[in-house]
Amino acid sequence: MPNTIQQNIEIINRKIRLSVQSSNRCLDDVRLVAVSKRFPLSSIELAQKTGQCLFGENYIQEAKDKFNTIQSKPNFHFIGHLQSNKAKAACDIFTMVETVDRYSLAKSLNKHMVNKGKTLDILIQVNIGNDPNKAGVSEVDSEKLLDDIQDLSSLNICGLMTIPPLTKSAEEARPYFSALRKLSEKLAQKELFANNEKVELSMGMSKDFHIAIEEGATLIRVGTAIFGQRPDLKR
Ligand SMILES: *Cc1c(COP(=O)(O)O)cnc(C)c1O
Repeated sequence: MPNTIQQNIEIINRKIRLSVQSSNRCLDDVRLVAVSKRFPLSSIELAQKTGQCLFGENYIQEAKDKFNTIQSKPNFHFIGHLQSNKAKAACDIFTMVETVDRYSLAKSLNKHMVNKGKTLDILIQVNIGNDPNKAGVSEVDSEKLLDDIQDLSSLNICGLMTIPPLTKSAEEARPYFSALRKLSEKLAQKELFANNEKVELSMGMSKDFHIAIEEGATLIRVGTAIFGQRPDLKR
């Protein structure tokens, strides 16, 4: 018997296929990041049964506990706010840090990757709506940040990530998604990404991922629509 998480993932994968078709894109170019923050390991394991192998986590300690306990290790992307003093732990757990928004953090991540003798995929988080409640480098400062990070040889700048301001409807988020795509095109022309022909765009969540796909998302971060309402933070 399929469980609810499995059914939800199937529904989302169907919606992804529809959005990909209606926007003439390739299914392979859109990856689902199942956002499992605050859900137990058992939820991740149920999702893994559908073939889901990419998960998003926001808290280092929680992710560390899950990573150390889980039997078959999926890919974890870090999507929360990262303090520089947790950069080392992040380097041990995550295949991608999606939320690099300042040079000091990039420098810490790079230092740990140099020590490991490996490279780390990162995205630059852009506050595309200039929302005072959201993290991210501003659009105007983004080029300088990418430029500065070029020297950090153990980081691959794979693309951009954004969390747009809360909108009433999914459609209202479209201008933010399209603005992030345009910014990525501008920065790719200046050859500021690891692969300027294939730039990752992490945008779109449970309510608006279909719009984000139409606007070019390559990574969509979906939590509630897969796992249900998130449990409150433990105190
Ligand atoms: C929690 C979270 C999500 C998932 O949001 P849902 O609305 O539950 O799909 C996506 N991205 C980030 C950065 C998050 O923190």
